[in-house]
Order: sequence, then C-alpha cells, then structure tokens
Amino acid sequence: MTLPTFTEHALPYCVFSRGADSPRVGAGLGTYIVDLHRTFGDPIFAGPSLNAFMSRGPRAWQRTRERLLGSVRGGQIGELVPIAEATLHLPFEVADFADFYSSLEHATNAARVLRPGDPQVHRNWREMPVGYHGRAGTVVVSGTPVQRPRGQLAPGHARPELAPTRRLDFEAEIGFVVGVGSALGQPVPAGAFTQHVFGVVLLIDWSARDIQAFESRPLGPFLGKSFATTISPWVIPLAALEQSRVPPPAQDPEPLSYLRESLPWGLDIDLALSINGQVISRPRFATMYWTGAQQLAHLTVNGAALRTGDLYGSGTVSSFRHDEMGSLLEMTTGGRDPITLPDGQTRSYLADGDTVTLSGSAPGPDGSRIEFGSASGQVTGPAG
Ligand code: CA
Repeated sequence: MTLPTFTEHALPYCVFSRGADSPRVGAGLGTYIVDLHRTFGDPIFAGPSLNAFMSRGPRAWQRTRERLLGSVRGGQIGELVPIAEATLHLPFEVADFADFYSSLEHATNAARVLRPGDPQVHRNWREMPVGYHGRAGTVVVSGTPVQRPRGQLAPGHARPELAPTRRLDFEAEIGFVVGVGSALGQPVPAGAFTQHVFGVVLLIDWSARDIQAFESRPLGPFLGKSFATTISPWVIPLAALEQSRVPPPAQDPEPLSYLRESLPWGLDIDLALSINGQVISRPRFATMYWTGAQQLAHLTVNGAALRTGDLYGSGTVSSFRHDEMGSLLEMTTGGRDPITLPDGQTRSYLADGDTVTLSGSAPGPDGSRIEFGSASGQVTGPAG
C-alpha cells in the first residue's frame, strides 16, 4: 500500500506505537510521525488516545498546531518515527456513533434500487439531515479485518435462514470527530461547529444489504450496519481544511432556522474507492447536501449531550455518475448489473479476500493538497 506524505499544512493526528513502546499521540509530517510527547513533554500526548487532548478545546488545539508548525519550520522537531515502521491504532475512544444519509444523489439512487415502485426521496429528507444511531464498539481502525457477518436472510417470501450475508457492501463517507462535549438540554447551534468538532476521518460504513433489507421494516438499520465501521488512523484537524471550504449545493426549501449557517461548511474533499488496489470510483464530498455543521445542530436539537469522542458519519458520498458512486448497491443496481474491475473480475457484492480502500485529499494553501491517508479493510469469511 502507498504510504501518505503529509505537508506542514496538514499535520494530522494519530495514535502510534513502534516496537515495544506503548501507544501515544503523534502528528503526521512527510512520511514520518512526530512523537508529540517527546517533542513537547506534555503528558496529555503520552496516552493511547486523542480524547484528553481533544477535550481541551479549540484554543488549545490552535496553540498546539502553531507550536508544532513553529518547530517544523525552525527545524526543532523532536523524535521522528517513519510511518512505515509504526503501528497505527484507533486514534480516539469512540463515545457515540451516528450515521447520516446526506447525499441527495445517494438517497435518490438508493430509493430507485430499493423502492422501484415508489422511488421518491421521502419529504423529511429535504427538511433535516436524516440519520440513525450506530454501534460505537464496532468502529475499528484501518487494517482491521472485516468478518462477513451472519444474519437473517429472507429473499422473496421465504422464511428467513441464519446465514452469512451474500450482499456485503461498503459506503464511502467522511466521519466528524467531536472534541468538546455539550451540556444535556443545551442544543448546539450550527455556528458552534468549530467549538466542538476537532477534525475529520475517512470512514467506510460496511453494510450487509440482505440483512438490512429484512430487518429494516419498519425500524432500522440495525445489525446489517453495526458489525464494522472502518476509520482512517489519521484525524485531520478542521484547521487544516480552511482552504477546502466551498459552498454546498443550494438547499430548497430553506431549512428551519436551527439548520441555517452564515458561512456553510461545504468541503471540497476528493475521495477514491478501490477494490484490491483498483480504483473503481472517485466520489466528491463537495456534492453533499447537508453539511457537518448542520448535522451537528440536528444531532443536538432535542437537547442530547455531545461527548468527547462522539463520531458521526456524513452518509454515503455519491453521484448520478457511475464513476463517482459511493456503494456497490448503486454501482450494480442492487446486484443486478455486476461491475467489471480493471483486472477483468466482476463483482455484484464483495467476495471473501477483497480489500476495500478509501483515500482522500482536499485543497490546501498555495496549491498544496491536504492528504487524508486511507481507510482500508479486508473481508474475511464468516466465523466458524
Ligand atoms: Ca452509511
């Protein structure tokens, strides 16, 4: 796999270890990791997660970033560890995990596949970022194998059987990572996005379409979505994405006031999806209808509290163009039209042994690119 190269404009955070060293917080620079504990001596970087640092809030994040940048430019970096020699761990303890459904193209494509007789996007979709709660304990770091899940499959009108999914799929997403929590009963306005959200990760929402299809009437998704969610080991700070901001698509009708933003958080992130190293699609995050700030406002409008380590997925990033779609469900029209990979193999859904990789980058200062690294998982056969 190609290793990322991070410019001084990116400086993404990670949790890494080398050899027998215990996991600690680092920052990506070039093809190296800056050991932040050994560089700054702050014990907050000595632990195996970003949570304590993230909970300090945006002023501390900014101070650390400026200090790090100053050290880089002054050639005063402490210990550097080659990324190639490091093990990268789950970068934060995931508190709650929710997943949205905020691409109009994805919602439209999915409705056409799943409800051909009633292919309209439901009327609530343009009024709020629709989402569901996932399972925080099944969020795993890139490189963790993804075991093909079992569940109740009921094609046609037959009684269900308990069997390994035959329709294993992925969804290409961005995940937003909450640093600063909020008080119970206090909704967070969309304008407070940067006061709470620390950064973003790449996110693969593994999905068992046949399990999902039978269990999701009328509630769901449930087990068909909550066996594994893969995130990248690098958390890109929001501060690195200032040059990546773009206006999101126009929203019609105008959303309710709690969902309005004065400076919307559209983000020009280019994604690339590959199966077994062969790129099959390049979804564009700039097309997303609802922004991360609107999703945060919606997530808390009922007074629910945020916690450090909360993670919420953007929803599948997709398109009406085949080469920009974010799931096999869409690319293969629900498995009916298999795709041909560059090596000539065909897929309706994933096969055991397949490795799915999501990578991404966004515009940075002076024509540079902010690299996101990658999130990757290999499908293994069912247990037992
Ligand atoms: Ca999803």
